[in-house]
Amino acid sequence: MNIKTLKINGFEYEVQFHDDLGGDMVGNIDYVEGIINVEKHSKKGMLLTLLHEAIHGILFSAQALAHGIYTLIKDNPELVKAIKNS
Ligand SMILES: [Zn+2]
Repeated sequence: MNIKTLKINGFEYEVQFHDDLGGDMVGNIDYVEGIINVEKHSKKGMLLTLLHEAIHGILFSAQALAHGIYTLIKDNPELVKAIKNS
């Protein structure tokens, strides 16, 4: 497979293919290092694994956004008050 990187919500992930990831695992995503690991199997299987891990990447971004909004509201009561009264 020729895919070297995936860009997910503006973040670039390096895609690495492995002969064996161990156990039942066929893929995983490392948010800290920005790496998606995929075990080599059928082309369709690898594409499904890439999509699966990309969905994790998208959901991780949603989690980061949720955390950002939560802390923005919690840490900035004056802003929240000003918006409420606008
Ligand atoms: Zn998963």
